[in-house]
Amino acid sequence: MGERQEKSKLFQDLADLYAEMEAAYNLVADGLGLSCDGCPDNCCTSFFQHHTRVEWAYLWEGLRACAEDRQKRFLKKAADYVEKSRLTLSQGGTPKIMCPLNEDGRCRLYTHRLMICRLHGVPNRFTRPDGKIMRFPGCTICQRLYTDMEQTPVLDRTAFYKRLASLEMAYTGGRPRPGVRLTLAEMLVYGPPE
Ligand code: SF4
Ligand code: SF4
Repeated sequence: MGERQEKSKLFQDLADLYAEMEAAYNLVADGLGLSCDGCPDNCCTSFFQHHTRVEWAYLWEGLRACAEDRQKRFLKKAADYVEKSRLTLSQGGTPKIMCPLNEDGRCRLYTHRLMICRLHGVPNRFTRPDGKIMRFPGCTICQRLYTDMEQTPVLDRTAFYKRLASLEMAYTGGRPRPGVRLTLAEMLVYGPPE
């Protein structure tokens, strides 16, 4: 298989994984009655970092499919985001800045948004490689919808993390690479991963 075909296959596998994440998320969200529609606490202003090159590359695939003026607009907003967020971080704060891809309250690269954008919100857990189970209560809006996490439907992220790690391994060809710890805005400003 040529390099281009391999990449397309990887991107298709990632899109399939994203679809499964979304279905699992919706199941838990629907069970709790959680909806993001009209949410006063839009989490696209939250400070998230992302960790995989394969998602970074797929994000760029989505960006490149946009009209040129939109691409330029997103990249300009991303540069502003990076500048402002670095200033806030240097002052010891946590940035709360709207994601450069969100316009009028909506994600404008919805099909290519990253894993954390798909999984944030509902109560979740995952099992670390050392066997320790990590639990998270979900967003503040969601936490108002239940009283006891033990009695509440929870999204288990473990299998999703493992599959994403496999896709990342395939993307890098198994070569050891420095870890990724970038905001989405930085992923845009730096250009696609090498
Ligand atoms: S990529 Fe989309 S869903 Fe994710 S933070 Fe940005 S606007 Fe929100
Ligand atoms: S995940 Fe929670 S905080 Fe984020 S938009 Fe949805 S309801 Fe609001």
